[in-house]
Amino acid sequence: MSVAAERIERLGDLAREATRAGDEERARYYVRLARRIAERNRLSLPRRFKRFTCDACDAYLVPGRNARVRLQDGHAVVTCDCGAHARYPYE
Ligand SMILES: [Zn+2]
Repeated sequence: MSVAAERIERLGDLAREATRAGDEERARYYVRLARRIAERNRLSLPRRFKRFTCDACDAYLVPGRNARVRLQDGHAVVTCDCGAHARYPYE
């Protein structure tokens, strides 16, 4: 794994911890930083990162804290507190 990919993983962990601690602004900062690193290094974001971040407001989503997850027709529908939804195939 490249240094950039490791930083992205680490920022995802930090963002999750910040959200759990109630510091969502700090979590957004980590999410945005990780996205910038991915872009600059032409890396795709890890699946976990894509699924647990909000494309609309850059929040790191922690179900039960700032997001809801519903299962519907073989999909997981993740709703952020900002109101944005994202649908993913459920595995
Ligand atoms: Zn959001």
